[in-house]
Amino acid sequence: MSQLLLGCIADDFTGGTDLASTLVRGGMRTLQVIGVPQGPLPDDIDAVVIALKSRTVSPEEAVTQSLEALEWLRAAGCQQFFFKYCSTFDSTSRGNIGPVADALAEALSVSFAVACPAFPENKRTIFNGHLFVGDVLLSESGMRNHPLTPMTDSNLVRVLQQQTLKQVGLVAHSVVNKGAQAISTAFNSLIVQGRGYAIVDAIDDEDLYAIGTAVADHKLVTGGSGVALGLPENFRRAGKLGQSETASVLPVIEGLGAVVSGSCSVATNGQVEHWQKTRPSFSIDPLRLANGHDQVAEALEWAKDLIQKGPVLIYGSAHPETVKLAQQKLGVEAAGQIVEDALSAVAVGLYGMGVRKLVVAGGETSGAVVKALQVKALRIGATIDPGVPWTLGLRDDPVALALKSGNFGTVDFFEKALANAP
Ligand code: ADP
Repeated sequence: MSQLLLGCIADDFTGGTDLASTLVRGGMRTLQVIGVPQGPLPDDIDAVVIALKSRTVSPEEAVTQSLEALEWLRAAGCQQFFFKYCSTFDSTSRGNIGPVADALAEALSVSFAVACPAFPENKRTIFNGHLFVGDVLLSESGMRNHPLTPMTDSNLVRVLQQQTLKQVGLVAHSVVNKGAQAISTAFNSLIVQGRGYAIVDAIDDEDLYAIGTAVADHKLVTGGSGVALGLPENFRRAGKLGQSETASVLPVIEGLGAVVSGSCSVATNGQVEHWQKTRPSFSIDPLRLANGHDQVAEALEWAKDLIQKGPVLIYGSAHPETVKLAQQKLGVEAAGQIVEDALSAVAVGLYGMGVRKLVVAGGETSGAVVKALQVKALRIGATIDPGVPWTLGLRDDPVALALKSGNFGTVDFFEKALANAP
């Protein structure tokens, strides 16, 4: 089957991978593209996720980028469109969820769409329109202090209402737990009332599957990756998608393995320490880099022979006090950038040595490495740990990539990923 079924627009990179992974688990062969595709795509795929960086840019810029992505997806023949945002509804009072959803709806001549960020597997649930993160309301979670998108109101009807001129309604859990038919009926009542969006409650995957079924004929769906759980089955029911048990199978890649880590999150620091108990590692230090030490060359020289015997780790990852020190001396942004630049150059050097199975830790670090390796698209494979799949980075000579953001993965993630590499 070579017909594209689902076209997705994600407002950030790792969120795009998360959605793509959900679709692959549902049996859709999925490609994630970084930015609007320039050239032709492989034809053996069912879904495309275009990953933008539109979450915190101005609403005008986010709309422009998203419409450009939509245009590409429409021209490619997609039948349904998905706007993916964060499961904590990350946005400012100006957007960008409302403005982007409005623009996509208008371009598709759609007057009604769901807005459902729920992701129960990661403990994001919605009840009576209120978003919970674990046991607490969104407004009481760490998200209230987010530097770019502080979320201080848990009532998603109110939050979305602030970002759109359309009226926002609610499909409450008392309806959702009656199943897809009841949800569809509730949508119809909201449409009759002139509502443009429905926040839809969901507290478990069963709710999400029911919502998924109820949006089968919606041209536009908006939400977190959770609400995409039910979409593959809709296409299957309509006879458009086969039983693709092999959707997650990537071609076998020959080559060496390595880990590059720029994440300083608690989970990553644990993974680095776990690795160091049994395997070789090399530390990159922003202060030494800033003093003119060519640590990239040093790291590659160190790795050259070792890597023939087994995978190595090259990392900037450090504990908060060390990071703070570097940030005080260099500035927060400069410290981050200098490590990202160094680790990207390390990744390119490792690729040159024959590394074709690369684990990268850190969201920003992953973005930088993918760019440096000139990878334009990722074919999504099997999940290693929730939210992190192996992927095939497409370029002339493809490279398998496991891109892990911050706090994802068990303590032995690096070893486990490499042991399960394609
Ligand atoms: P995460 O997904 O854990 O947030 P990111 O890669 O997105 O990880 O962000 C981590 C940031 O910290 C990157 O910009 C990286 O370059 C930077 N960084 C890594 N090591 C250090 C260090 N030792 N000192 C200061 N900044 C660092």
